[in-house]
Amino acid sequence: MTSSEINAYDGSLGDLVHRLTQSFIAEHGEPPTWIVAAPGRVNLIGEHVDYNDGFVMPMAIERYVAMAASERKRDDRGIASVRSVNLDVFAEIDLTKIPTPPETPSWMSYVEGVFAGFMQKLGPESTQKIPPLNILLESNVPVGGGLSSSAALEVATATLLEAVTGVELGKAEKALICQKAEHDFAKMPCGIMDQFSSVFGQANAFMLLDCRSQEIRQLPFSSDGISVLITNSNVKHELVGGEYAQRRKGCDSALTKIGASSWRDVTMGQVDAAEATLTATERQLARHVVSEIERTERAAEAIEANRWEALGDLMYQGHASLRDDFKVSCKELDLLVDIAKAIGREGGVYGSRMTGGGFGGCTVTLVDSDKVVEVSQQILKAYKEQSGVEAQLFASRPAIGAHVISRSPS
Ligand code: ADP
Ligand code: MG
Repeated sequence: MTSSEINAYDGSLGDLVHRLTQSFIAEHGEPPTWIVAAPGRVNLIGEHVDYNDGFVMPMAIERYVAMAASERKRDDRGIASVRSVNLDVFAEIDLTKIPTPPETPSWMSYVEGVFAGFMQKLGPESTQKIPPLNILLESNVPVGGGLSSSAALEVATATLLEAVTGVELGKAEKALICQKAEHDFAKMPCGIMDQFSSVFGQANAFMLLDCRSQEIRQLPFSSDGISVLITNSNVKHELVGGEYAQRRKGCDSALTKIGASSWRDVTMGQVDAAEATLTATERQLARHVVSEIERTERAAEAIEANRWEALGDLMYQGHASLRDDFKVSCKELDLLVDIAKAIGREGGVYGSRMTGGGFGGCTVTLVDSDKVVEVSQQILKAYKEQSGVEAQLFASRPAIGAHVISRSPS
């Protein structure tokens, strides 16, 4: 038994695609012409530094948004109909013009933003190059859990449009069109990590993504002895005060006061030297950013040397920094990390930390593969007892990025 059988998120990509195909046939009376999929991601280390010119270390996970489509017959309205099976929502996109950003974002904004970016790329007469479509999608990426269901949705959309039109985007170009959709249409000023992970994911590798140069170094992770466990705290605290925007602003103002143009060039010595000019909050933000960039570089070295204990220590340190300095954790995430830490090396745990934006969502934990089941059960039990909330948990290997699953001959 593997941990993914313990609870919650069911199924492989194969199961997901099979279910989606059946739903498509039930709704449209024929199998889809195209099926594509794009994965979510988990970030092993390097948090809140993607928008600060840092390094991040994501892997794509074996949880996907799968999208199926076929051409609409006898359509004279020039629309793409889009339905999400798992959220049970439906919308239409008018293909006779390039979509413009909405006043109020909704789930469709992610899809529509990618249509807009793709149509711009197609250039003049782009409106004639995408046929009317029926699109159905289903996902087993937890929604809003910090595993980037939104980027998976965007990248799946871009991959579908590539398959439908035969126009292939460059990989980085595709990720950037998706990021722009999230910025302009969903109004979420995210960094590049989520979309790059979903596009560039490879089996058996972490990615060290340089958010300044946008270069990726693949870090082979073929060790079967180590597993990555993802635990969803199943809480998401409402943010009322523009928490993320505040932190970004604080990072920017600290950088200006330090007198540098990129966080990559800043040392802890410079942060200390600028201490008198920084507010207490700016000092803490600066400390997190500089130390987290360094931790992520050291984590890459640890992986290349198969030094899992060193990697685990860096994860614990990263969590403490996010909790105490960047202040984006919450009691449930702290509890999950504390439970993992208490299980300890003898119990099979190397390290654990919150992952994603924070204030809820998931933790990522490095575990001995032969102890995954035991560790999972201990985490679920202790978390339920101490928080009253049921966590969900699965193990994942690094997964292959967005790809076309099938295309029927026309
Ligand atoms: P995360 O990316 O961490 O899962 P976000 O808040 O960035 O969280 O994105 C979640 C949003 O993305 C959802 O509220 C919804 O609007 C959209 N979304 C994600 N998955 C789906 C899906 N399967 N069907 C429809 N919308 C989805
Ligand atoms: Mg997201």
